[in-house]
Amino acid sequence: MGLVCLSIASCAASSQTHAASATTRPTEKAISIAKVRPVSFDGPETVEGLDVGTEKSATAPHSSLVRVANPDVLASKVNLWAVEEQRKLSRPSAKEYLTMSPGVCGASGTIVCFAVDSTRHVQGKKAVSTQIWYLDMSDKSVRQSQDLLTQSGKNKVVHALDSLSPDTSVSMSIKRVLKPNSDSPTATPTSDSTPVATQSASASSTSAPAPSASSDSQNGMGSAGVFFQSDGSLVLRAPNDEKNGFDSYRVASRDVEKLLTEEGKKLRSGIMQKANPVPIPKPESKPIPKPDVDCRVASCVALTFDDGPGDQTDRLLAALREKGVRATFFTIGKNVKARPDLVKKEAAEGHSVGNHSWDHPQLTKLTPEELRKQLKNTSNSIVEAGAPAPVLMRPPYGSSNADVLKAIGENGMAETRWDVDTEDWKNKNAAVTTQRALAGARPGSVILMHDIHASSVDAVPGLIDQLKAKGYTLVTVPQLMGDDMTPYIGHRIFSQRNVK
Ligand SMILES: [Zn+2]
Repeated sequence: MGLVCLSIASCAASSQTHAASATTRPTEKAISIAKVRPVSFDGPETVEGLDVGTEKSATAPHSSLVRVANPDVLASKVNLWAVEEQRKLSRPSAKEYLTMSPGVCGASGTIVCFAVDSTRHVQGKKAVSTQIWYLDMSDKSVRQSQDLLTQSGKNKVVHALDSLSPDTSVSMSIKRVLKPNSDSPTATPTSDSTPVATQSASASSTSAPAPSASSDSQNGMGSAGVFFQSDGSLVLRAPNDEKNGFDSYRVASRDVEKLLTEEGKKLRSGIMQKANPVPIPKPESKPIPKPDVDCRVASCVALTFDDGPGDQTDRLLAALREKGVRATFFTIGKNVKARPDLVKKEAAEGHSVGNHSWDHPQLTKLTPEELRKQLKNTSNSIVEAGAPAPVLMRPPYGSSNADVLKAIGENGMAETRWDVDTEDWKNKNAAVTTQRALAGARPGSVILMHDIHASSVDAVPGLIDQLKAKGYTLVTVPQLMGDDMTPYIGHRIFSQRNVK
C-alpha cells in the first residue's frame, strides 16, 4: 500500500521550502505540492506489442492524428478522442491544424500509462495540450488520468496550487482539468466555457477568444494529465500557455494516497511495483466482410497483387481494410517464409492467398522436378504461415505451357492470369497505374498489380473508389469465379469470362 500522511505536522515538517501547503477547510489536511523541472515519464518508452503511431488526417492534410491499433479498449477511446479533437478545428487548413504525438508514460505489470501531447496550430499560434490514460490489461479497463482523483483530492490539489501560484495560467489549466463534470452538484461555476488552450495574450482572461470554440467540460477531456511515478509521487503536467510548453507539479508520495479513488490507488500501487510490463497481445485480424453479391449477374472485378509479401504489404492491407475490400495475393514462397505473419494476416482478413512460385523463375525452363518443387514448397510455406492451401497459381511473367499447366493442376490449383495489366512495375506512378486499371476494367476482369511498389499501394484507395463509382464490386478471384474453384483446377483463367 502507499504511504499516508498521518498528521499535518509531519507533512509540513518535511515539505520542501519552495512547496506550498494549503488548507482552506479545517478538516482538510494540507498536501505538499511543488513545481518541478519538466518530469520525464519514468517508464519504458514502449510496451511490447502496443501498436501505436501517428497518421495523416484524411480531412486536414497538415494534421497528424494519433493512431492506436491495440488493445481495442484503448484504441477506441484514444482514436475517437483524436478525431474529436480535430473536429474542434473550425477550418482545417494549412493555417489551422493539429499535430499529435503519442507515448508510454509509465508501465508496470499489466498497467500502462499512455500519453498524447497535441499541438493545435491556429493562425501561426500554437496551443499545446496533454492527455493521459491508464490502461489495466488485467481487466481491460481504461481510465482518464484526472478521474483517478476523488473530488476532495482534486480540491486539495487546486488549493495547494492556488497558494503556490495563485494566478498563473498553469494552475488555471490544471483546475480546468480537475474540475468536476458539469452535471455534478459541486461543479465549479467558473470557466465552463474556457477552451482547452487560450492564446498566449489571454492567459489571465477566461473570456478571451480562443482557437477552439468547444468546451472541454462537454466530454470531460482536459488539457492536463496526471501520472504516477514509480516512487509513488503524482505529477500534474499542464500546458503553460505563455511558453507553449508544459509545466510539471509534483505531489509528494506521502500525500498521494489520500487524493485518489480506489481505482487510482490500485493503479498507483501497481506502478510502484516496477514490474516488467506485460506484452500487449497483437490485434486480432478480423475478416473484411465478404461482398454479398453474385458475380454471375453483378459487375465484379478482382484486384490481384503479385510478388509479396514485402515492405508495402501491410500498408496495402490497411488500405484494403479501410475500403472494406478483399483482394487476391500471389505470393512468392521465399517471401512467405521471410514474412509469414503478413500472409497469415492476408488470409485472416479475408483475402485470397495464391501461389506465385518459390523464387520467381520462368517455369517453362525448369525440369519437371524443379517445377514440382517450385509449386509444392510455396504452397507448403503458405499453409505453414497459417493460410489455407492455395487453389490459385500465377506463373511468373505469365510464362506457361501445357506441362506447366498440367503440373499446376496436379497440385490442385488453377492457373490464374489476368486480363488487365496495369504495368505498375514499369510506370511506378500511382496515377498512370490507376488510369490503366480503369481503362482496362470490364465486368469479370482480373487486374494485375504488385504489392512491392509504394506507387502501386498509393494507387489503391483512389482506384477502389473509382471502380466502385463505375458500379463494380471488388472481390477475390474465387468469389469472381463463383466461390467453388473445383471446376477450374488445371485450367487457365484470364478473367471470369475467359477460361481455357
Ligand atoms: Zn511476379
